[in-house]
Amino acid sequence: MLSIEEYQRRIKRVLVSEEEIREAIAKVAKEIDASYDGRPILLVSILNGAFVFMADLCRAITVPCEIGFMCAKSYYNNTMSSGTVTITMDLEQDLKKYHVIIVEDIVDTGRTLVEVIKILKSREPLSLCVITLLDKPSRRETDFEADIALFTVPNCFVVGYGLDCAEYYRNLPYVAEYSED
Ligand code: 5GP
Repeated sequence: MLSIEEYQRRIKRVLVSEEEIREAIAKVAKEIDASYDGRPILLVSILNGAFVFMADLCRAITVPCEIGFMCAKSYYNNTMSSGTVTITMDLEQDLKKYHVIIVEDIVDTGRTLVEVIKILKSREPLSLCVITLLDKPSRRETDFEADIALFTVPNCFVVGYGLDCAEYYRNLPYVAEYSED
């Protein structure tokens, strides 16, 4: 268990503020409202990191939409990628009935989404697109690009707004750089 001093010391700087996140979400929700009106939408959140983004994005969207969750693990309890992607919790919906919008927290190497998209496309959704809160292009190991990325972050480990380090910091209302140094 970290002391409160140590917990706070590891938050190095705010990269994306609450206000910036709120404004960007309002803008992207308007785009979704305009382009998906009248179509069956399924917002798919990849847990756990995207739960805060999903909660705010779905409440900013005003057209009818449904929500589903899946869990894809690619990181262990540290800041290094495990290099593997495992689906530990799956969707219940029949994707053939939906325009699927994947709501992701961060695209780093891109490996998680390449795998998740492969699986979801095989279920023949009406269409599929990816919205990510954060993009870390400097770490990409695939040619994957999200359809919409709200913010680009530098090559550092980030926490907050759903993103964790060993399960801590998910409840920070902003995105921050994390370091133990
Ligand atoms: P990728 O497969 O693109 O490398 O990354 C997949 C997952 O790794 C993300 O959904 C996220 O959960 C985690 N991840 C990648 N970069 C970071 C980071 O800087 N901070 C945190 N907390 N998680 C990250």
